Amino acid sequence: MEPVLRQAVALAHQNLEARTAQYLARLGQKVSCRRGCFACCYAWVVVGLAEAAYLREHLEAHLPDALARVEAEGPNRLRRIAQHKHRADFPTTYFLEAHPCPLLTSEGACAVHPHRPLACRGVLTNLEARYCAPG
Ligand code: SF4
Ligand code: SF4
Repeated sequence: MEPVLRQAVALAHQNLEARTAQYLARLGQKVSCRRGCFACCYAWVVVGLAEAAYLREHLEAHLPDALARVEAEGPNRLRRIAQHKHRADFPTTYFLEAHPCPLLTSEGACAVHPHRPLACRGVLTNLEARYCAPG
C-alpha cells in the first residue's frame, strides 16, 4: 500500500475519533459501548478500497488467522451482494440474520479495534446495549 494512502486512512480514522469525542463532550454524553459488547458487529459493514487495503496490510502482518477467516467468509458475502443488492431492505435483513463479522473474536472483541473501519467507528449509542441486538 502506498504510504500516502496509509496515512490518509489513519488520518481519517483519527479525525472521526476526535470529532466524535468533541461532539459527545459538547452534549455531555457518554457512550454505552464497551469491549465484549458486539451486537453492532452483525451489521453489513461497508469499507472503501483504501480502508480495505489498510486493513488487509494489518491482517497480513499481525493476524493471519483473522485474515483467513475474512477470506473464507468473503465469497459468501459477495454472493449475497450479487443476489440481494437491489433490495432496499437487504442491510436490515442481513442484520436480523445475525452473522458475526469474521473479525469478531470468541471473547466478543474486535480483533482489529485500532484499525477498524470508519463504518464501525461511527456506530455507537448512549442507550442500553440490548437495544442494539437484532430484532
Ligand atoms: S453500538 Fe450497541 S452493540 Fe455496539 S458496542 Fe455500542 S452498545 Fe454495544
Ligand atoms: S471490524 Fe471489528 S468493529 Fe467492525 S464489525 Fe468487525 S468486529 Fe465489529
